Amino acid sequence: MTRAETPWRATILTLYPEMFPGPLGVSLSGDALARGDWSLEARNIREHGLGRHRSVDDTPAGGGAGMVLRCDVLAAAIDAATGAHDPRPRLLMSPRGRPLSQARVRELAAGPGALIVCGRFEGVDERVIAGRGLEEVSIGDYVLSGGEIAALVVLDACVRLLPGVMGKVESGVEESFEGGLLEYPHYTRPRDWEGRPIPEVLSGGNHAAIARWRRAEAERITAERRPDLPGAAARPPAR
Ligand code: SAH
Repeated sequence: MTRAETPWRATILTLYPEMFPGPLGVSLSGDALARGDWSLEARNIREHGLGRHRSVDDTPAGGGAGMVLRCDVLAAAIDAATGAHDPRPRLLMSPRGRPLSQARVRELAAGPGALIVCGRFEGVDERVIAGRGLEEVSIGDYVLSGGEIAALVVLDACVRLLPGVMGKVESGVEESFEGGLLEYPHYTRPRDWEGRPIPEVLSGGNHAAIARWRRAEAERITAERRPDLPGAAARPPAR
């Protein structure tokens, strides 16, 4: 498969556009970008900065450490990047956001693309979030110095699901988090390595038995490691 009818379109608003495509310029995502299966535009928020120094931030109202990205500057950057009828969801990378999930990634990948705003400093003026309908998205419970790496994470997760990007369609379906389960373990040659053989069932050619074993392993690992996932309920951990 090659070029999609309308390529999935990503627009990034950042103070560091040179960080894009970065790691997404290589391998599957880079090949797909070169083919035109998706497009990427990184725009510098500073183009909408104020005054001679193109200032984008100011001190926090009420005092305190750090600087805050101004709502008027960000809104101008968003408006210039989207136009009136842009149907794409607008994400704001934020540690306060809803944690990114494979389900949300699937929805995003099925849509027309995304506009992603990358915060810096202490974050952004709260008013622009409601004022421009931004969806706050977190990539985990830790604090990064900026939203750019988080945006790359979102893009990587979405782009690999676009039609034609991954070699084999099935490799997207049985993976971790699909069906609320972590994935079963993988093995390849050599058959015996440092006294650790490949589980016998995998060499037997009995496909039904292999499917049962993989399912049981996925449930066991999920119950052990991620009892919070829905698939873990299938088999409560042994006491
Ligand atoms: N003062 C903020 C953290 C600001 S970190 C707080 O305590 O919540 C600076 C920027 O990095 C944020 O605006 C956001 O865009 C990005 N960022 C940091 N951690 C992130 C995370 N876990 N997920 C997504 N974006 C994150």
